[in-house]
Amino acid sequence: MKIAIYPGSFDPVTLGHLDIIERAAKMVDKLIIGVLNNNTKNPLFSADDRVNMLKEVTSHLDNVEVEAFSGLLIDFVKRKNADVVIRGLRAITDFEYELQMAQTNRTMEPTFDTIFLITSLQYAYLSSSTVKEVAKFGGDLNKFLPQQVIPKVKDKYNIK
Ligand code: ADP
Repeated sequence: MKIAIYPGSFDPVTLGHLDIIERAAKMVDKLIIGVLNNNTKNPLFSADDRVNMLKEVTSHLDNVEVEAFSGLLIDFVKRKNADVVIRGLRAITDFEYELQMAQTNRTMEPTFDTIFLITSLQYAYLSSSTVKEVAKFGGDLNKFLPQQVIPKVKDKYNIK
């Protein structure tokens, strides 16, 4: 049984994340979405909220699980008996950061491997942080976020 972990902040989950999740879920027996509970990042949503939103938007995928984790990714991978980590790549700027992370993880744990899925073209520009900027000023979120997530983001910024 092949188990993959897709880790990230998902603050909040975007259509770009969901695209990676749907594609990765087809490649493995089980996909565990690991929601990073990292207090230093000062997220908009609590880890619990992020886990619940991800569960809601992936309820149609029966081999996907969602769980929060803190600490080192390599330790979460070991605890879950996962074979591989999935990450998404949008642009060159992602590549440098992802390469550094993957190599650091492989140095600490030589059996650790990352599979990179390139973004679908229509989501190449999309990130949680730009969506939050749009939301803050009342912009239309329909092209960026799953429908279930939109009211929750609007609530955070007191937008009707
Ligand atoms: P992190 O804080 O770990 O970068 P994110 O929630 O921002 O977490 O992203 C999680 C993963 O999803 C990363 O590998 C990121 O590159 C990828 N990702 C984010 N947005 C997109 C997108 N629009 N298309 C493809 N991959 C994406």
